[in-house]
Amino acid sequence: MNQNLAIEYEPEQIEAFDVRRAMEEASRCLLCEDAPCSKGCPAGTDPAKFIRSIRFRNINGAAETIRENNILGASCALICPYERLCEQACSRCGIDRPIQIGKLQQFAMEHERKYNKTYLTKEDTYTGKRVACIGAGPASLSCAAELARKGVEVTIFDEHKKPGGMLRYGIPPFRLPDAVIDQDISQLEKLGVKFELNHKVTPEELEQLKKEYDSVFVGAGLWKPKKLSIPGSDLQGVVTALEFLAQARENHGEMAPLGHVVIIGGGDVAMDCAATCKYLGAASIYDVFIETLEGAPAVQREKDYVFKIGIPLISEFKPIEFIGNGKVERVKFEHMTNGSTMELVADTVILAVGQTTREDAASWKESEDIFTGGDMVNGGDTVVRAVKEGKEAAAKIMESFK
Ligand SMILES: Cc1cc2nc3c(=O)[nH]c(=O)nc-3n(C[C@H](O)[C@H](O)[C@H](O)COP(=O)(O)OP(=O)(O)OC[C@H]3O[C@@H](n4cnc5c(N)ncnc54)[C@H](O)[C@@H]3O)c2cc1C
Ligand code: SF4
Repeated sequence: MNQNLAIEYEPEQIEAFDVRRAMEEASRCLLCEDAPCSKGCPAGTDPAKFIRSIRFRNINGAAETIRENNILGASCALICPYERLCEQACSRCGIDRPIQIGKLQQFAMEHERKYNKTYLTKEDTYTGKRVACIGAGPASLSCAAELARKGVEVTIFDEHKKPGGMLRYGIPPFRLPDAVIDQDISQLEKLGVKFELNHKVTPEELEQLKKEYDSVFVGAGLWKPKKLSIPGSDLQGVVTALEFLAQARENHGEMAPLGHVVIIGGGDVAMDCAATCKYLGAASIYDVFIETLEGAPAVQREKDYVFKIGIPLISEFKPIEFIGNGKVERVKFEHMTNGSTMELVADTVILAVGQTTREDAASWKESEDIFTGGDMVNGGDTVVRAVKEGKEAAAKIMESFK
């Protein structure tokens, strides 16, 4: 792996608590009745219950609670925006600071990994039912795990060579290492879920799958990057965030020199691109977006991190032209309110301005014989929301079998 990409991302954030720190943190918990933290988790991971277990030194019990409620417990521990979900809801916010719920979840999941534990079992009911899930992202993985536990035979189809969807091909490895995704996937394999990888399902094949299986779930995500309709958009060197991040991950950071980079967008995807460029040794990096600094949609933790590693964030400017001769050389911007302009030198421009549904998945809507969930339904949100929607779809599928 490229040495730069191997640099640890904010060790404080990715290193797990040791037992002493976990106990100290869990002992700060107020053991609230009707706990707001548990209500704050879309997937129902139930932090109040697993923190109580940690506090009473029942780490197995904690890990079991997490796994039962959230099949992506290990990944979510690292990348969930808990500061605006469970931690924001924590009662200790009113006293001093919230319990570090994500770190405690990571501690319990690390225990599972270290001692090679398996907590989930299949219910002893053979349904004789078979379900096909399209896409191996969080929504499908969550739906598949719920169904498999209830005795359904599940096959997941995905066009990529490894399962995980955006966990694997979007979120960079310094925030979410492959080993953590593999830990979550191994739980599905133990439940007997089968994976058909390198297999892109066409609309025609989907019709066939509907006949072959008792039910079909589609969690195809948003895989069509949005582009900008401004002069110079087709110049060489103007790439989309998804292309860039996937290439960096696939090539283990071995890429052609990026030179001077301008990133366009103020969301988490833009921040991930910015940090990746830094690790890949770009000559200079600017991230420019149309929102104010506070209004930019990236979570504060990511904005702070990017700022801390020395990447300037330029707010309230929109790109109006990519300038160059065959290859991009500069980007021209206009201020959102006062109309002033600026130009930045650029050898690489990364567009992180959102994704939408790809043409092949556009017609796959929830209907009598198709269940759906995740980004393609909610317009793009979080892993934990996709997990929630996958669980809900599984419940509907089970209901349809009655
Ligand atoms: C760069 C980046 C950073 C992010 N950071 C975070 C974060 O820190 N925290 C967070 O909670 N969320 C984050 N997200 C969002 C999160 O990754 C998504 O909300 C989540 O992955 C959505 O899950 P999903 O199952 O709906 O879709 P996806 O994860 O997109 O998975 C869909 C899968 O279906 C496959 N597929 C699509 N069509 C077909 C077909 N026809 N045949 C076969 N396979 C198909 C796709 O290739 C993909 O593997 C980030 C997203 C990106 C892009
Ligand atoms: S809300 Fe905070 S203090 Fe209360 S149970 Fe949850 S983690 Fe503990």
